[in-house]
Amino acid sequence: MKTFHVAIVGAGPAGYFAALALQNLQNDDLTFQIDMIERLPTPWGLVRSGVAPDHPKIKTVSKVFEKVATAGNFRLFGNIELGSDVSISQLKEMYDAVIIATGSSIGKTLGIPGEDLPGSISCADFVPWYNAHPDFAHLEIPLDTDVAVVIGAGNVAMDVARMLALDPSELDPTDTADYAITAFKKSKIRKVYICARRGAEHAAFTSSELRELPKLEHTNVLINRADINSAIVCAGDAPEKSVKSNLDAMVLISEKEPTTHERTMQFLFQHVPVQISGTDRVEAVTFTTPAGQVSIPCGLVISAIGYKAESINEIPFENGKVVNTDGRVAGNLYVLGWAKRGPSGVIGTNKSDAAAVIELLISDLAEPKKNTNLNEILSSKKIVTQQVWEKIAAAEIAAGEPLGKPRIKAVTREELLHLGGI
Ligand code: NAP
Repeated sequence: MKTFHVAIVGAGPAGYFAALALQNLQNDDLTFQIDMIERLPTPWGLVRSGVAPDHPKIKTVSKVFEKVATAGNFRLFGNIELGSDVSISQLKEMYDAVIIATGSSIGKTLGIPGEDLPGSISCADFVPWYNAHPDFAHLEIPLDTDVAVVIGAGNVAMDVARMLALDPSELDPTDTADYAITAFKKSKIRKVYICARRGAEHAAFTSSELRELPKLEHTNVLINRADINSAIVCAGDAPEKSVKSNLDAMVLISEKEPTTHERTMQFLFQHVPVQISGTDRVEAVTFTTPAGQVSIPCGLVISAIGYKAESINEIPFENGKVVNTDGRVAGNLYVLGWAKRGPSGVIGTNKSDAAAVIELLISDLAEPKKNTNLNEILSSKKIVTQQVWEKIAAAEIAAGEPLGKPRIKAVTREELLHLGGI
C-alpha cells in the first residue's frame, strides 16, 4: 500500500473539496495523509468570511468540511503563513503534492477618476468587515449618508446591497460581526442603488438570489418593468435557461406593489460608471446611460465587480490567476478553486473542479517520498490544529446561544488563539 503526503494551502471550500476528493479516491492500495495550511486562525474561507450572514443555509456546507477534517487522515495547520512560516519550496520538497487553494481576495478596481476618495470602497473590504475577518474589523465604513451606490451585477453586489438595505434588526439572529450590527443600526442609509453596466439580460445574479429579494420584510425592492421588457426583447426567442430564470424573477420583483418601507434597494441597468466625485469624500457617481450622463448623489460607493488572486512568492500569476494547465502548475505543484479558474461559480462549483484536479494529481503520482513532519519546521509557532479550532468554534457557538445566534465570532487573532487555549 502506498501512502502519499499532500499539502493543501488555503482552508476554504476549494481546499476542503480537494481533501474530500483525495479521501474519496483512497482504496486498499492508495491512501493519503493530508495537511491543510491556513493563514488565519480559523478555517472555512469564504464560508466564514464571505457568505452573507443573512443566508445561513449556504454555510451548512461547513458540516462537510468538518466531516473531512475528522476523517482521520487530515491535519489542520491554522495561523500559519506561507512565506514567513513555511515556503513553497519547503512544501514541495516535503510533500508528494502541494495544492494551492488560496482563492481570490483582492477586489478588481473600476479604474475611473475619484475611485480613491474616502467613501469609495471595494466589496473585498466591506464583505470581510461585516463578517468579522480579523484583517478588516478595524475599517470605518461611512454609513452616515442617505444614499449608497453598489456597482456590479453579480451575487456579491447583491449581497452587499442587501446588507446595506435590510433592516439591521434582521441581522440580530445571525453571525454578523457585533460591531457591524451596531454600525448598521446607526446607519443613515435608506436608499441603495445597485448599478449594472449592461442590460438585465446580461446580469450575473443567480435567479435563486433574485427570488429571495421580495421576501425582505422591511425593504422595498424596485426594478423598472420597462428595463426588463427591453431585456426580454434583447434576450431573443430562445434565451439561455439561466437568463430566462433571471428575467422571470426580475419581472416578479418589478410587479410587486411598493410598500411604505423607508428602506429601498433599486436596480439600475445600462449604467456605466465613469466618475466618482467629491471634495473630501464621495459626493456623487456619474454614469453614462442610454439617456445621457446621470449623476447620483451619494456618500458611499461600493464596487463589487469581481476579484483577483493575491500573488504568492515562487508561484507564477497572470491575469489574477495562478498560471496552470487544468490545475497543474509545475512539478508537484497544483492549483484549484478561484486561484485556478478565476472568481466564478458558487461554492459547490469547487467540488467538481477539485475532483478533476485531484484525478490528474493522482495520475502523476509515482513513489511516495520520505515526508518530513511539518511540525518540525513550525516548532515555535502557535498552530491552530483541528482540536484548537474545535475549541474556538465551541466557544463561539456557546457565546451565541443565549442570544439566539449561530455563533458570536471572535474578531482579533489574539482573541481567537485565546479561545483555542493557545
Ligand atoms: P461576477 O458574478 O463575475 O459579477 C461581476 C459583475 O461586475 C458583473 O455584473 C460585471 O458586469 C460587473 N463588472 C465587471 N467589471 C465592471 C466595471 N468595470 N464596471 C461595472 N461593472 C463591472 O462576480 P461576483 O459578484 O464577485 O461573484 C463571484 C462569484 O461568486 C460568482 O460566480 C457568484 O455567483 C458567486 N457568489 C455566489 C453567491 C451565492 O450563491 N449566494 C454569493 C456571492 C457570490 P459584466 O457582465 O458587464 O462584465
